Amino acid sequence: MVSPWLLVIETATTRAATCLNVTTAGVSCEQSAVNFCRRSELFVLDSKPLLFPSDFPPIRRRRLTTLQVNLGYRCNQSCLHCHVDAGPKRSEEMSLETLDELLGFLRRGDLTLLDITGGAPELNQVFRPLVIAARGLGMRVMDRCNLTILEEPGQEDLADFLAEHEVEVIASLPCYLQENVDAQRGSGTFEASLRGLRALNARGYGRSDGRLLLSLVYNPTGASLPPSQCALEAEYKRELKTRYGIEFNRLLTLANMPIRRFGSWLQSTRQFDDYLGLLKSAHQAANLEAVMCRDLISVDWQGYIYDCDFNQMLDLPLRQGDGDLHRLSPVSPNPGSPNQRKRLHLRDLTSAELLRERSIQVGEHCYGCTAGQGSSCGGALA
Ligand code: SF4
Ligand code: SF4
Repeated sequence: MVSPWLLVIETATTRAATCLNVTTAGVSCEQSAVNFCRRSELFVLDSKPLLFPSDFPPIRRRRLTTLQVNLGYRCNQSCLHCHVDAGPKRSEEMSLETLDELLGFLRRGDLTLLDITGGAPELNQVFRPLVIAARGLGMRVMDRCNLTILEEPGQEDLADFLAEHEVEVIASLPCYLQENVDAQRGSGTFEASLRGLRALNARGYGRSDGRLLLSLVYNPTGASLPPSQCALEAEYKRELKTRYGIEFNRLLTLANMPIRRFGSWLQSTRQFDDYLGLLKSAHQAANLEAVMCRDLISVDWQGYIYDCDFNQMLDLPLRQGDGDLHRLSPVSPNPGSPNQRKRLHLRDLTSAELLRERSIQVGEHCYGCTAGQGSSCGGALA
């Protein structure tokens, strides 16, 4: 028997997926997408059991260069494709104590890049102290910014702050057309995003001198692979400049991951198996060399470590080595999870070098990184 919850989600998602520019019973498709997103905060179909076992090839970490830190899952948006299941009602947030442990790790390591993500990371109390400290250590800092956050109360000076500290901005904009952006990210998001981009351009972001880098992120609105990054970047640059006078440095194309909210949407629209088949049939072995987990670790809001942000969302902690760590933290961040056992925390790691050659936890979702031109947090790999 199909559960009533499933029926609710199917009704909403079917409308959202169809995404026609029509009004259905007085509710536009954009509104339906938003309604679905709001409901999905209450109920998400778990994709994890569908991702294992997997025949994804084994891979190992090389020298660590990048720390990707997820400051928490609170966001001012609730996008349909979100692999974090972030939204306004999420309360997870990094504490000042964990920030201290994070900074201790950054001082011990010789990492060159700090990649800050969320939710909307700027909402977190530690965001600005972290940026200032990491820049003081000489690191490149990236902020994964949803653009609409620039208009939130209390964030009026955010664009100035980012420019002052020369933070690279990675901004989501899944299309240069309003209807597609609003369908995926909620009604009114496109106009707010344009205002955010103009605010960044006004501070010098996106210029060809490359001092203040502004990258835009494209991801498909449905269960398909992204088109060629190179061709789409040229199209974005032309359309955003001529239609809206907006400039940016580069476009990153990302495939949607079949996990959390997008995974739930795939299941409720009965597209999960087909989408996974699409990813697997497009697998390119050459992309294994460049997937982000080879050089990066992901840290959650409590300081626990994962191979990447996707594994963090699947509650797949870093695989533990034999005797190369001086201790492991005894507290599980997710009581009741199947991984309720000792797991690696930033404070346990005396040196980033300890992670070299460690095997990476892989599953069927990893084909999302190697399909076609490849996809990672830095865009296409090929
Ligand atoms: S995709 Fe980004 S902006 Fe959208 S809900 Fe998730 S974290 Fe927020
Ligand atoms: S999802 Fe991608 S980045 Fe994460 S472990 Fe798999 S291949 Fe690596």
